[in-house]
This record gives sequence, structure tokens and C-alpha cells, in this order.
Amino acid sequence: MSTIKSIAIVGGTHGNELTGINILTALESDPFNEFDDIFQFQHVLANADAVAANVRFIDVDLNRQFTVENLTCDNDMLHELTIAKMVNQQLGPKGASKTDLVIDIHNTTSAMGATLILLEDSPFYRNMGGYLKMHMPDVNILLEDEVTYQEHPYLCTIGTRGIMLELGSQPQGVSRMDILLQCKAMLQHVFAYCDLYNRELLSQIPHFDAFRLIENINFPLDDEGEIKGLVHESLLDKDFCRVEVGAPIFRLFDGTEICLTGSQAIYPHFINEAAYLKSKVAFATATKFEW
Ligand SMILES: [Zn+2]
Repeated sequence: MSTIKSIAIVGGTHGNELTGINILTALESDPFNEFDDIFQFQHVLANADAVAANVRFIDVDLNRQFTVENLTCDNDMLHELTIAKMVNQQLGPKGASKTDLVIDIHNTTSAMGATLILLEDSPFYRNMGGYLKMHMPDVNILLEDEVTYQEHPYLCTIGTRGIMLELGSQPQGVSRMDILLQCKAMLQHVFAYCDLYNRELLSQIPHFDAFRLIENINFPLDDEGEIKGLVHESLLDKDFCRVEVGAPIFRLFDGTEICLTGSQAIYPHFINEAAYLKSKVAFATATKFEW
């Protein structure tokens, strides 16, 4: 069993998601003292230029650059690709990392509440999700294991282990103390979990409800590729709520309803996420399962 010693807390991967940036500031005057002797912490502001400009990114989305291919390419033209290689050197390298756990903190404009995003179905992550659910029952656990951990392009995958905290709803460029406190509580429980894991003191963690990503769903588009309707009014602020086959999911500008087809109910999330509008993604879908 490889224990967790070094932990990186990363904020500002997206420059206009302020909770992670606020956490790094807050930790300067109010650190997690009780874990100081247990873990070696690194605090990392990932994309300082995007933070200064209050934008998600300068050239390309930093949190999609951490593929082995990108990290070994010669392209130095794109700001975020250069940063990705620097952060990979500092905390990684991906696949042979010097950091045992990378925690990357994000905000969403959708009403997902506090969500822990895990990228692999393994006992370490399952038990972390269950431990968080035991202490913060309102937290949503989202498993994105449609590709392997190594294949994901996310920053946190440069750690031997990596997770994302996704907190919403918080508008881009806005700071909310309630969400900052939620984030601190999540971190606290993640550290407590890792400490128990290291000392093999975790008791049996009961099964819990979790969500597994299926796919992104685009807005309805016209022949020119322009958006011709919006997310249905009944779905708004209902992230992770069940939607049955046949229920309306979009309403076109002409009033027509578009209903869910297929064979299974879905649990939409990232509903109306502002950062995804450019790529015309309306929401992501998930299934619910007992983990
Ligand atoms: Zn983000």
C-alpha cells in the first residue's frame, strides 16, 4: 500500500473560478495545522495570468492539456501548454509523480452543490467518496471513468492520485464565503480520510449513492450550427435530479419542447455551465449507482 505523504492543493486552474484562489489565500492565515506534521503540503496557483485577467484561460483550457501527448510536445506557442509542462515538472511528472495526491479546486455556475469528482473506480477513491458522504451527506460524488486515469487530460492526473472539487453554484469572477467554507470542509475530510488510510484505521465504509458520467449533451442547433433553444425550464437548478425518458429537456425559441429519448433515465449536471456554452454543451448526463 502506497501511503499519502505529499499533497498539492491547486487553485486558479481556471482563472475566473475564485474559490480555489480564495482557499490559497485563506490557508496563509488559517492553515490546516492539525495535518502539518502528517502531510507535506504544496499550494499552487496554476494559471496566474488567467487569474490576473479574470478569465478561464488565455489561449486554451489548462484543465484539458495534461495528456501525455501534450506534456511531451514541442509547442511553446500556447500559454496554457507551457504552464501545463511547468506544473507537470513541479508536481508530476504524470505517470511517475512525486506528489501522492493532487487536489484541484473548481467552481461551476450550475447548481451542483459541492461535488467530488473521482476518475477511477478503485477502493481508495470509493472509500474517499464514502467517507465524504458520511461526514457531508449533501456532497455529490461523481465518477468519470469513461477513460483511464492516465488518459484523462485533467491537471490533477499528474499526481499519483488526483481528485477535483467542483463547487457551485458560483458565478465566474465571484467569491462566496458559504462555498469557501464548504470547500474547506471537504478538504478537511479528505485529509482526515488520507490520514486514516495511511494508518490503516479506516473502518468498513457503507455503500452510498454516486453518479457516473455518461456524456455531454449539446443544445439543439439549427442548420447553421446556432443554438435554437434553451435548457427546459423544468431542469433549471435541478442538477443531479432524475429525468425520465419522455420528459422535456429543451424548449426551442418557437416554444416546441424536446423530450428525452433513449432507454434510461438520466441525471443531468453541469446544467447551463457558463464555461461550456462556447462549445454548445447544455449539460452532462450521468447514471446513478450504488458504490
Ligand atoms: Zn474549472
